[in-house]
Amino acid sequence: CAEEGVRILGEGKFLVSDSFPGNERTKYCLTSKIPLGVILAIPPFNYPVNLAVSKIGPALVAGNSLVLKPPTQGAVAALHMVHCFHLAGFPKGLISCVTGKGSEIGDFLTMHPGVNCISFTGGDTGIAISKKAGMIPLQMELGGKDACIILEDADLDLAAANIVKGGFSYSGQRCTAVKVVLVMDSVADALVDKVKAKVGKLTVGPPEDDCDITPVVTESSANFIEGLVMDAQRKGATFCQEYKRAGNLIWPLLLDNVRPDMRIAWEEPFGPVLPVIRINSVEEGIHHCNASNFGLQGCVFTRDINKAILISDAMETGTVQINSAPARGPDHFPFQGLKDSGIGSQGITNSINMMTKIKTTVINLPTPSYTMG
Ligand code: NAP
Repeated sequence: CAEEGVRILGEGKFLVSDSFPGNERTKYCLTSKIPLGVILAIPPFNYPVNLAVSKIGPALVAGNSLVLKPPTQGAVAALHMVHCFHLAGFPKGLISCVTGKGSEIGDFLTMHPGVNCISFTGGDTGIAISKKAGMIPLQMELGGKDACIILEDADLDLAAANIVKGGFSYSGQRCTAVKVVLVMDSVADALVDKVKAKVGKLTVGPPEDDCDITPVVTESSANFIEGLVMDAQRKGATFCQEYKRAGNLIWPLLLDNVRPDMRIAWEEPFGPVLPVIRINSVEEGIHHCNASNFGLQGCVFTRDINKAILISDAMETGTVQINSAPARGPDHFPFQGLKDSGIGSQGITNSINMMTKIKTTVINLPTPSYTMG
C-alpha cells in the first residue's frame, strides 16, 4: 500500500485544450487525486484483522481518516490492533474504533453525514446498507457460493486436495470457500472417493488443540447449517459421512448427489458442509454457477487451458481460478464480486482509487494573441 500510494497519488495530469478538435490552446487543466475524507470500514467476524487492514492501508495512504466498526465477534482483536497503531504514534482521531452491535449502531454510522465512503465486508447486511447509504462511494464485498467445476480430464488428486482445503479450512467460514462442487458424472465416483478419504483425515475439536475443524461462530450459524443439512437429507442427498454436531461444533460433511431443488445447492452454509452436484456437460455446470444470486469466485479443474479460459469467460463471477481453489489475494490482485456478491473492486490499487476522487482545476487564458515569429 505504501509503495502504491506514492505512485498513484503522484500521478497528477496536465492537459491542454488544443488536443480536443476546435479548441485553441486557451485552457490548461490540472488534475489530481484527493482524499474523500472519512472512510467507514466494517469488516466481518471471520477475518477481523486482515479485512480491517485491507481497508485501513489504502484509506490512510490515500490521505483519509477512518472509522473502524469491528465485528462484535472479533472486536477484541481489532481493538488491540488499533491500540498498536496508537502506540506506533498515529495522531489521535486518524483511526477511531467504534464498537457495538451492528444491528444497534449500524444505521447511525452508515447513514452519518460525516461519512464519505463505506468499505464493507460481510453478508446480506451489505445489500441493506447499500440501499440506505447516500451518494457516497461504496465498496461491498459480500457472500459467495463459489463453484468448483471438475472436467473429465482434470488432475483429480489436485482437485481433491483443493476442494478439501478450499471447502473446509476455517471450518468453511470463508467468503471464497469452495461452496459447491460441480463434477462431470464420468469422474464423479473417483473424485468423491478421493475427497471423502481426505475429509476423513480432518481433525475435529477446539481451536486450542489446533484442530482442522473447530466450532462455527455462533449457535444460530450452527442451527442454520443444520437446517440446510436436514433439507438435503429429506430430499435424498447421499451422506458421505455421518452427520454429527455437538453445540457449535459440526463434523465435516460431504453431501453427494445434491440436486438443484435442495437449499444447499444455492445457499451459503458458512460451515464445514460441502455439496457435490453431478453434471453431464460443461454447459450444465456453467448454467448452475450463473443461476446463483452470488458471483464472487469460481474455479475450474482441467488440463486443457483453452477450455479453461472459455469457461472462465462464461462464468459470471468476479474471479475464476484455473486449477486452484478460490482465494482472496495476494492482496494486490483485484478482488470483486458480481451480483449479490458485491459492488466495486478491492485490491491495493483499486481500493486506493475508490478512496480518492479526481479534482480538476482549469486555468483559462485569454485568446492567444501571441504567435511564434
Ligand atoms: P455480517 O453479519 O454481514 O456482518 C459483517 C459486519 O457488519 C460486522 O462487523 C457486523 O457487526 C456489521 N453489521 C451488522 N449489521 C449491521 C448494520 N445494520 N449496519 C452496519 N453494520 C452492520 O457478516 P458476518 O457474519 O460477520 O460475515 C460472514 C459473511 O461475510 C458471509 O456471508 C461471508 O461470505 C461474507 N464475507 C465476504 C468476504 C468478501 O470479501 N466477499 C470476506 C469475508 C466474509 P456485528 O458483528 O456487530 O453484527
